[in-house]
Amino acid sequence: MEKLKVGILGATGMVGQRYIALLENHPWFEVTLVAASPRSAGKKYSEATLGRWQMVTPIPTSVCDLIVKDANIVEDIASEVDFVFSAVELEKELIRELEMKYARNNTPVVSNCSAHRGTEDVPMLIPEINHSHLDIIQVQQENRKFTKGFVLVKPNCSLQSYITPMYALQQKGYKISKAIITTLQASSGAGHPGVPSLDLLDNIVPFIGGEEEKSENEPQKIFGTIKNGKIINDTSIKISAHCNRVPVVDGHTACVSLEFEDKDNKPSLDEIKKIWKEFSSVPQELDLPSAPRCAIIYNEEQNRPQPRKDRDNDKGMGVTVGRLRECNVFDVRFVGLSHNTIRGAAGGGILNAELLKAKGFL
Ligand code: NAP
Repeated sequence: MEKLKVGILGATGMVGQRYIALLENHPWFEVTLVAASPRSAGKKYSEATLGRWQMVTPIPTSVCDLIVKDANIVEDIASEVDFVFSAVELEKELIRELEMKYARNNTPVVSNCSAHRGTEDVPMLIPEINHSHLDIIQVQQENRKFTKGFVLVKPNCSLQSYITPMYALQQKGYKISKAIITTLQASSGAGHPGVPSLDLLDNIVPFIGGEEEKSENEPQKIFGTIKNGKIINDTSIKISAHCNRVPVVDGHTACVSLEFEDKDNKPSLDEIKKIWKEFSSVPQELDLPSAPRCAIIYNEEQNRPQPRKDRDNDKGMGVTVGRLRECNVFDVRFVGLSHNTIRGAAGGGILNAELLKAKGFL
């Protein structure tokens, strides 16, 4: 099979670098173009990332000598690739315009950016959960007169640690009415150079701009349904989030308490574990190249999951949960963990693109 040509927008950044590393030897996609800000444009990729390559593997040789393009010069890039991954850091309004411009130029955009997460005809996808939201792509193309292009986004990186476990319970009929979620988010989530080391080492910062709103609102769209050409949010679930930046390099943890809607029909702890262990969805059924073998990994050890020990489960695509127990205030509580720049960013974006390819959108 001939590989699809892929461009990375924001290729020099934390998420962009992760894309480059993960796509080396990908069976379906090949990175043929890298783009970033005008500051990096015109340089070889290896020069543009000199001193700030953060991955533990070297820059793939096929990418080292690519000349970085200016991500804002859409026409130059759109004609050279089959689709782009977007991971630029810019003002939201500029990202919204930029991504739609690629789509208008017949180039599908698989985005990590938050700019279009609230746009009604843009799917915000976790392939294990709301694969049916792919249906909105045709509506988006009709609405905006796109022929081949479209924009698809993935949600905030921290959601991944708890939303699939929550969905698995809802899917079995145990509707969740309330959740209190306290995240402990890794420093790589702030990009590079991110939070200054003197602010973070030996410390916890109990504020991440905009993050609590994303944690509270984005699940409503993911659990939403398509009606009249729009994704209608499921507002029945109330979430209260506390988001903290902690001195961990990679891996976002979430401590979660859940309340179920139906007091007479609550799952037992054993039943919840069984549901999680057996949960499987479209990426596993289609055997997508980046799909974790188990969509949810339950670790029985009493002091897990831990970022350093569990973030790389299933090539960094696993969602690991543990410490399931009764909650004295709500019904149950647990701890979830996922790798923020793999499952929560580039790996999640690649899985989205694999689903798009398998379903004929790319
Ligand atoms: P980052 O490390 O700061 O990288 C930002 C990228 O954007 C760089 O490639 C940079 O290019 C490029 N850029 C900056 N200004 C630009 C401009 N005017 N025009 C075009 N490109 C420009 O940020 P990041 O952590 O990788 O995050 C990238 C995006 O992914 C953000 O929207 C972020 O919210 C989202 N995200 C991040 C994570 C995470 O865990 N880090 C997770 C999920 C989503 P230069 O190198 O040339 O400046």
